[in-house]
Amino acid sequence: MKHCLITGGAGFIGSHLAERLIAKGNRVTVVDDLTTGRRENLDAIQDHPNFQLRVGSITDPVLLNDVVIGVDVIYHLAAAVGVKLVADNPVKTIETNIYPTELLLRLAALGGQRFFLASTSEVYGKNPKERWTEEDDLHFGSTSRPRWAYGCSKAIDEFLALAYQRKLGLQMVIGRFFNVVGPRQVGDYGMVVPRFVDQALDGGPVIVYDDGGQERCFAHVSDVVECIIKLTESDITVGGVFNIGSDQPVSILSLANKVIEKIDPSIETQFIPYREAYAEDFEDVRRRVPDTTRLESAIAMKPGRSLDDILSDIIRWKRELREQGKT
Ligand code: UDP
Repeated sequence: MKHCLITGGAGFIGSHLAERLIAKGNRVTVVDDLTTGRRENLDAIQDHPNFQLRVGSITDPVLLNDVVIGVDVIYHLAAAVGVKLVADNPVKTIETNIYPTELLLRLAALGGQRFFLASTSEVYGKNPKERWTEEDDLHFGSTSRPRWAYGCSKAIDEFLALAYQRKLGLQMVIGRFFNVVGPRQVGDYGMVVPRFVDQALDGGPVIVYDDGGQERCFAHVSDVVECIIKLTESDITVGGVFNIGSDQPVSILSLANKVIEKIDPSIETQFIPYREAYAEDFEDVRRRVPDTTRLESAIAMKPGRSLDDILSDIIRWKRELREQGKT
C-alpha cells in the first residue's frame, strides 16, 4: 500500500484519481481549498478508512510542509484551471500555479517522493502543426493577451520540474492533458461538453462559438486517470513529458450535433462570435490534437473511449443530477 497525496483532489480529475487509487488499495490524502473542487466529488470515498481530506490552500506553505510527511507519491493537480478563469484572475494564477509547485517540487526532491505534475495541452499555445509531439515548440501569443497566461504558467511548472529532476534527482513525470471530460466536470469555466449537454437538456439552443470548425480531441476522465497512475508507477517514465489525450479530432460543430442527436434532434444550434463569448482580444486555438506515440510506447495504452460512449456517460450523469434536483 502506498500513501498518495493528491493536490486538487476534490476537483474533477483529482476526485476520479482519488477513487481509483483507493480502489487499488492505496492510502490517499487530498489537499483542496474547495474553490473549484467540491466536497461532493469525494462522496464515494470520504468515509473510507484509507482516505483523508485536508481542506486548505496549496498557497499555504505550512500546510504543504505538513502534508508531504510520510507520503510516497505526490500527484500535483491543484491549479487555477481553465483559460477563462485564468484570464479573469491573472494574479491568482501566478500565486496558485507557480509558487506552490516550486515548493512541492523542492519538498519532493528532499523527501524522495515520486511526483506527477499535471500540465496541459495549452503549453503548445497556437502551434499550427496537425498533431503535437512532446518535443514541439510552444507558440504563445503576446503577454498583453491574458489567454496565454495559463499555458505559460504551466510551462514554467514544467521547466521547474525538469530542473529539479536534473539537478536534485527528483523522480518526476509530467502529463499534458488534452480536453479531459466526464462526470463531475462543470461548465462554469468554459468547458464545452458540459455546457452543450446542459444547454441541450434545457431545450437549447446549443451555443457554438465562431463557425464551429475548431477541432478538439475529447478523452474520458477514467482513461486519463489510468494513464496518470501507469505513468507515475512506471520506472521508465521518470523525467519524461507525455501527452495524455484522445487522438481522434472532432469539430465543435459536429460535437454540438452529436449532443443534439442524443438528447433531442429538434434542438437548434446558435453561432456567436468569439468577442461575445470571451474578451475582445481573445484568440482561440483552432486545432488541438496530440501525438500519443510516446504515451503508448511507455504504458501500452492511450485514452480510447469513443466520443459516443463519453457523451452518453456525461448525459446520464447530468440527467441523474437533475433528477436529484442538483443542477
Ligand atoms: N466552445 C463553444 N461553446 C461553448 C464553450 C466552448 O463553442 O459554450 C468552443 C471553444 O471556443 C473552443 C472549444 O469549444 O474552441 C473547446 O472549449 P473549451 O473551453 O472546452 O476548451 P479549450 O480547448 O478551449 O481549452
